[in-house]
Amino acid sequence: ESVMAGENYEDAMDAKQKSQDLAEKTALEELQEVRRSLPIYTYRDQLLKAVEEHQVLVIVGDTGSGKTTQIPQYLHEAGYTKRGKVGCTQPRRVAAMSVAARVAQEMGVKLGHDVGYSIRFEDCTSDKTVLKYMTDGMLLRELLGEPDLASYSVVIVDEAHERTLSTDILFGLVKDIARFRPDLKLLISSATMDAEKFSDYFDTAPIFSFPGRRYPVEINYTSAPEADYMDAAIVTILTIHVREPLGDILVFFTGQEEIETAEEILKHRIRGLGTKIRELIICPIYANLPSELQAKIFEPTPEGARKVVLATNIAETSLTIDGIKYVVDPGFSKMKSYNPRTGMESLLITPISKASATQRAGRAGRTSPGKCYRLYTAFNYNNDLEENTVPEVQRTNLASVVLALKSLGIHDLINFDFMDPPPAEALVKSLELLFALGALNKLGELTKAGRRMAEFPLDPMLSKMIVVSDKYKCSDEIISIAAMLSIGGSIFYRPKDKQVHADNARMNFHTGNVGDHIALLKVYSSWKETNFSTQWCYENYIQVRSMKRARDIRDQLEGLLERVEIDISSNLNELDSVRKSIVAGFFPHTAKLQKNGSYRTVKHPQTVHIHPNSGLSQVLPRWVVYHELVLTSKEYMRQVTELKPEWLIELAPHYYQLKDVEDAASKKMPKGAGKAAM
Ligand code: ADP
Ligand code: MG
Repeated sequence: ESVMAGENYEDAMDAKQKSQDLAEKTALEELQEVRRSLPIYTYRDQLLKAVEEHQVLVIVGDTGSGKTTQIPQYLHEAGYTKRGKVGCTQPRRVAAMSVAARVAQEMGVKLGHDVGYSIRFEDCTSDKTVLKYMTDGMLLRELLGEPDLASYSVVIVDEAHERTLSTDILFGLVKDIARFRPDLKLLISSATMDAEKFSDYFDTAPIFSFPGRRYPVEINYTSAPEADYMDAAIVTILTIHVREPLGDILVFFTGQEEIETAEEILKHRIRGLGTKIRELIICPIYANLPSELQAKIFEPTPEGARKVVLATNIAETSLTIDGIKYVVDPGFSKMKSYNPRTGMESLLITPISKASATQRAGRAGRTSPGKCYRLYTAFNYNNDLEENTVPEVQRTNLASVVLALKSLGIHDLINFDFMDPPPAEALVKSLELLFALGALNKLGELTKAGRRMAEFPLDPMLSKMIVVSDKYKCSDEIISIAAMLSIGGSIFYRPKDKQVHADNARMNFHTGNVGDHIALLKVYSSWKETNFSTQWCYENYIQVRSMKRARDIRDQLEGLLERVEIDISSNLNELDSVRKSIVAGFFPHTAKLQKNGSYRTVKHPQTVHIHPNSGLSQVLPRWVVYHELVLTSKEYMRQVTELKPEWLIELAPHYYQLKDVEDAASKKMPKGAGKAAM
């Protein structure tokens, strides 16, 4: 009896499996049809022929025409993966993940097997992986272990027009590798027309350009400048939703916070409009959005409804969402800005370039004619916007890539083959910083500490903090702090109706005014003590996802400690050793309290403030070290810890002199301090 039942059961399961297989097969066939409908498909054979004939090829095609998802598959089908992997770099991690997921789906394979992705702190590949999507920064790190990229048969530097720092550095490196590896194919792919520049740079490599499908996009400007672009964006979205024919809306914001604010306001306003209007589905997309939610933006909009995608720059060229008919462009993006004179870096909201504005508008005309609403005036557009976005290499701190290049054995940085060279001052500043951090010696050569620092996929200041923690026997605490600082997203959340509770929960971790770094450590260790409990996170208004990410990052940092032969050691009773390790890495980021409650940065005096979210914003210690500067209404220091000024002389004698830390109010300086400075 039971055997029979079992057989029947198996039969039933068999049938179910078969129908599932069948459904999958048709889904797969449908996907193949979609593939064949992409603009690039017409040029498949020509493209493969060009790749066969030339070692280096510049490829230009409109955004959404299929470059990123199709070219690696074509190369695979043509047999290139028999000789090695096909690697395809993306400037953004969300793009790397999402595109890899799509390609795995199109090929009917499991993500992480034949098709995978690799982003910082997350490797979703295996020995079987032949198509590998990765951030440009990850390929740069891979070069440290495999300087000739021997395991690759093709490298595609994709979204080259974005000109991120890592992409620009990769240009110089892969150009060189291609010279001594004639078997390596190198494809540079871009969505914009500055192909000549890429071609010139790569020794006049041929340009393969193909037309996309573009429908006309009607551009609307505001008649007067908008005082509040958030408000203007919301009004525009709602007006489109109520007045315009169906079709999805794409809105560009500058970051996660803005997107969350917009989402909240929109939900509230929609409720106010009553039930007569059609459904509006709100889909946020930004770098730290959990991957399960990322997939949501690609789901087809249900019949009769409208989707509004609230996106960062990521949707400008990296991701293509089908069905967009309306684009709302407030005209801003968040950009890093760097002052090479002072070495200070800050994130700030900046007007976009004309090239960006054109790309954004183009997103409305991919599948049918569309409309773009620019929330600025035509005069603004014509007179105030720059033609092109300045490449990142010219507006960022270079310490991290200089350290990477040094560990690749590239010493002559002034003569590095930059497509657009950074300001000489910026190079000098980064060399000085690495010297002060002890990563380079007087001759500019990598030191033992520098070699260790280069192992960590972190900013050199964070790496230094970790390497130094060995000396202070607190590596256990420091890697927790480093992991918490590297999450990217927010740790605490603050629901509108429970703000007081949330604030109380947050302040619990600040008891004793320990400073934000130690508070982060407390959050992490308390969570660990509960055995990583989700419930505990809810009770303390802490984002579970952020904590899980911190745990992943921490695990990897622990692995890297082993690699550089640093033992895990804990020194919780001596919080000053933790603080000293932080200062040993972050001494360039110090500030001193002024009479009016603001701060002045110590080395290159500039007025800054403690961020209102900091546990020290009411305490105002005399001397502080901070993690980063963020420019919003004021220049804010985020993640702040108190320090003793004599530590600066002790820990950074190449950087600070006694006069920098002399303090009118505190007469006593430690005896040794003056000597160390000389
Ligand atoms: P390009 O690189 O030329 O800008 P892509 O290869 O990124 O173009 O996109 C080609 C098509 O694949 C687009 O129609 C896009 O909507 C679709 N696509 C890309 N990623 C996904 C995804 N994760 N889910 C669904 N569709 C996707
Ligand atoms: Mg692309």
